[in-house]
Amino acid sequence: MKRVVILGSTGSIGVQTLDVVGRFPDRLQVIGLAARRQQILARQVREFNVGAVSIGNVERTADFPEGTAVLDGPDGLETLATLPEADVIVVATVGRAGLAATIAALRAGKQVALANKEVLVMAGEIVRRVAREHSGTLLPVDSEHSAIWQCLMGEAHSAIHKIVLTASGGALRDWPVEALHSVSPEQALRHPTWTMGPKVTIDSATLMNKGLEVIEAHWLFDCPFESIGVVLHPTSSVHSLVQFVDGSIKAQLGRADMRGPIQFALSHPERWPFPELQIDIKDFGPLQFTEPQWERYPCLRLALDAGRRGGTYPAVLCAADEMAVELFIGGAIPLTAIATLVERVLDQHQGAEMPSLENVLAADAWARDRCTELYQAGNW
Ligand code: MG
Repeated sequence: MKRVVILGSTGSIGVQTLDVVGRFPDRLQVIGLAARRQQILARQVREFNVGAVSIGNVERTADFPEGTAVLDGPDGLETLATLPEADVIVVATVGRAGLAATIAALRAGKQVALANKEVLVMAGEIVRRVAREHSGTLLPVDSEHSAIWQCLMGEAHSAIHKIVLTASGGALRDWPVEALHSVSPEQALRHPTWTMGPKVTIDSATLMNKGLEVIEAHWLFDCPFESIGVVLHPTSSVHSLVQFVDGSIKAQLGRADMRGPIQFALSHPERWPFPELQIDIKDFGPLQFTEPQWERYPCLRLALDAGRRGGTYPAVLCAADEMAVELFIGGAIPLTAIATLVERVLDQHQGAEMPSLENVLAADAWARDRCTELYQAGNW
């Protein structure tokens, strides 16, 4: 029996993780949940008979079953992430929210199934070092990274020629570039292949998401940026692939359903049945791969540049993007202003090399303030 904690249990990945857990009551048990939407959280606690929850730094408004330990302080995520009886911590929060809890879990030697990609983008070097020093394990949940992980099983690191991440191109891939400034949040939120939360869906429309994933892959698989490529692949049938030094290519294919990578992170090193995810390979149709149009996706270039510069630049990228996406979803700025705002914030940043966690968090806070100031000044 694996005992599972889910941080961010009411979001898209959290709910899909519970769907997976519910399929294997004799193999998986949820012992802790954290989320902000308390009514849904309380329902999850009853359905899965969960012993401990964290509701964050807010007032308790829902009725939790008697006997549930309700953590309502700022450290709730870290407490759950280090529960002595926990085996796997699923970090399904968004943005910087999961950073401290991921580090705490790794320090406690836990397996961390990481869906919150910003954690590695912001603080990849620190997170990797903590994992190494404390025998914590990072398991990718992002579909691309799960694919690469599966392709690399049994392979030597020196055999890798190139890692190639596939991108669907997002909701707006067929829009004329000139029309992108007039896209509404509803239109950008209609992802063609994957069902995900709003932040990552907007990031998919701008391809910022793919840029963040390149940085994530850099840390997860210890690969230089020159060896990580991005191709557009509209059907999302190939979740990503690895080219080896001998010219051989391994790809991982499957339905575009996040429950696949979630389940593999929980079942690893085993594979467990999932009948609904079976597919007749004839249904895949032709597999197309093309070069992304860089003028359509300025955020991809910004992310790759920030990744190569390293230090605190990726944290600034993440924070500015999170703020800008919020502004776009709220109707305050056009989609194209996301890249403008992020670029201006990055341009004004004085980066720190080999940053500490404090440096990373300070850069994050600075970038949020700077983004807000630029927005208020109409500078986008
Ligand atoms: Mg992904």
